[in-house]
Amino acid sequence: MTSTARSNQPPPFEGRNLFDIDPALRAVVDEGAPWAASELRQWGDWLGSEETYALADAANRNPPQLRTHDRTGERIDDVSFHPAWHELMRRAMAAGEHCTPWRAPRADAQLARAAMYYLHAQVENGTQCPLTMTYASVPVLTRHAASSHGALDVWLARIMSDVYDPRRLVVAEKRSALIGMGMTERQGGSDVRANVTRAVPDGDGTWRITGHKWFFSAPQCDAHLVLAQTHAGLGCFLMPRMQPDGCRNTIRVDRLKDKVGNRSNASAEVQFDDAFAWAIGPADRGIATILEMVQYTRLDCVIGSAGLMRGASSWALHHARHRTTFGRRLVDHPLMANVLADVALECQAAMLLAMLLARASERDADVALKAVARILTPAAKFWVCKRAMAVTCEAMEALGGNGYIEETPLARFYREAPVNSIWEGSGNIVCLDVARAMRREPEAVDALVAYLGAAAGSDRRYDAELDRLTGTLGGDVDNPGDARHLAQAIAVVVSAAELIKHAPAPVADAFCASRLGDQRYAGAAFGVLPASCDTQGILARAMT
Ligand SMILES: Cc1cc2nc3c(=O)[nH]c(=O)nc-3n(C[C@H](O)[C@H](O)[C@H](O)COP(=O)(O)OP(=O)(O)OC[C@H]3O[C@@H](n4cnc5c(N)ncnc54)[C@H](O)[C@@H]3O)c2cc1C
Repeated sequence: MTSTARSNQPPPFEGRNLFDIDPALRAVVDEGAPWAASELRQWGDWLGSEETYALADAANRNPPQLRTHDRTGERIDDVSFHPAWHELMRRAMAAGEHCTPWRAPRADAQLARAAMYYLHAQVENGTQCPLTMTYASVPVLTRHAASSHGALDVWLARIMSDVYDPRRLVVAEKRSALIGMGMTERQGGSDVRANVTRAVPDGDGTWRITGHKWFFSAPQCDAHLVLAQTHAGLGCFLMPRMQPDGCRNTIRVDRLKDKVGNRSNASAEVQFDDAFAWAIGPADRGIATILEMVQYTRLDCVIGSAGLMRGASSWALHHARHRTTFGRRLVDHPLMANVLADVALECQAAMLLAMLLARASERDADVALKAVARILTPAAKFWVCKRAMAVTCEAMEALGGNGYIEETPLARFYREAPVNSIWEGSGNIVCLDVARAMRREPEAVDALVAYLGAAAGSDRRYDAELDRLTGTLGGDVDNPGDARHLAQAIAVVVSAAELIKHAPAPVADAFCASRLGDQRYAGAAFGVLPASCDTQGILARAMT
C-alpha cells in the first residue's frame, strides 16, 4: 500500500499529458486542426509535467524585482525575473504561442494556437501577458508597416522569431522582440480619451512623448504600443525600450504593482520624459488603431480564462476521484458529482466559446462569422472571465482544506482569475461594447441570429431561449443598465449552440436543462443540475 493510499491523499496530479486527458479539446482539434494534434500533444506533455508545475510555482513565488539604478547610481529601470520565468517564456516562444498564425498562416492556424494557449493557461498565466500582447500587436504593426518607411519591418521580423531573447538591446541586434501596450493613466483607464500624456513631432517623422502610464505590464518588452495626445487628438505610438542610436529610451519605471495574482508578471507605473516613439497610424486615430490589438487581447482573455477554469477543474476532478469520505470516493457522492459535472459543463462551454472566437479570427473565416465575433468577443470576454472566478473558487473547495493551501496551484488560479475580467475592458465596459456593436452593425445582429438558428430544432429549451433572445436582439438595446443582461444572454445561448453542435448529447442536454428556459440556474452556485442529468457521463467526458 502506498503512503498516499494510506493517508487518503490523492496521488500527484502532475505527470499527465494535459492534451491527452481532455477529450473535449481533442475533439475540437481533430475536427478543426488535426494537423496540430501532434505538437499539441508534445506541448500538453511538457505543460503537465512535474517540472513545469514547479516552474510555474517558482515564477509566482519569486515575483520580478525592479532595479531602478545600477551600483554607480545610473538609472537602469531594469526588472529582473526568476529563472523559472525565463524558462517558461523560452518554451512558450519556441512553441510559437506569440506568433504562429502570423508566421505560418494556414487554415485553422488560429484554432491551433488557441489550443496551445488554452493548455498553457492551465498551468501558468503571468507569462501569457507578454505573449498575448506580442501576438495581438502583429495585425496593427502589419497594417501600418508600409507607411512606416521601413521602421516596422525589423520589429515584425523579430516578433516572428521563436528564440526568446530577454536582453536589453536595440531591436536590430536582438534575436526576437516582445511587445506590450500602455493605455491606462492615473485619471482613467476605461475612458482613454482622458489621457493626458502628450506626443510632439520631432521633425524627422518620429515623435517625443512626455507623461505617464499607471499600468504598463511587462515593462521589459522591447517596445510598447502607447496612446498619447497629439495636436490632432489621441494618437497611437510604438515606443521602443532602446532608441535606435543605442541609448536607453527615457522610460522611467517608478514602481512595480503589488498584485492580487498574476504575480510572476511585472506590471509597472512608468514616466516618459521626452521618450522616443514612432507614430502608428494617423495622429488622431489612436483609439481605432489600438482597438484592433484589443480585439485579439480580448480573445486571449477568453481563451485564458477558459484554460484557467479547465486547469482548476481538472485538479478538482482528480482529487475527487481519489479522495474517500464516508466510505466512498468523493466523485461517487451524488452531490459532489453534481457539483463537478456542473463545473465541467461550464468549462466545456467556455472552451467551445473560446474556440469559436478563434475560428472567427482565422484569415479565411467567413464574413458572417467575423460579424458574429464583433458582438460575441466582448460578450464572451464578460461572461467567461466572470465564470472563471466562480469555477476556480468552486474547484478550490472540492479539494477541501488542501485547496486553500499554496502547495497546490488552486490558490494561485483563484487569485489569477479576476484580472482577465478587469483588464482589456472591465466587465461593464465590454458589456456596453456589446450593445454598441449591435447598434452600429445591424448586419452583425442578423449574422448572430442566423448562426444561432443553425443549431435549432434538436432541443426545445434551446429553441425557446433562442426565440426569447431573438426578441431581445431585435428590440431596444439602448438602455446601458441592461447591458450585462444582454451580454450574458448572448454568451449563454451561443454556448448552448456550440454544445449542441459539438458535445455528446448528455452534455448538451444538461447544459440546456440547467441554464436555459424556465429552469435557468445561470449565475447560481454550482451543483444544481436537475436529477435527470447524467452527471457521471458528463464527468467521463470531462477528463480521461
Ligand atoms: C494587473 C494589471 C495589469 C494591467 N496592465 C495594463 C497594461 O499593460 N496596459 C494598460 O494600458 N492597462 C493595464 N491595466 C489597466 C487596466 O486595463 C485598467 O485597470 C482597466 O481598463 C480599468 O481602468 P481603470 O483602472 O482606470 O478603472 P476605471 O476606468 O475607473 O473603471 C472602474 C470601474 O468602473 C466601471 N466603469 C467605467 N466606466 C463605466 C461606465 N460608463 N458605465 C458603467 N461602468 C463603468 C469599469 O468597468 C470598472 O469596473 C492593467 C490592470 C491590471 C489590474
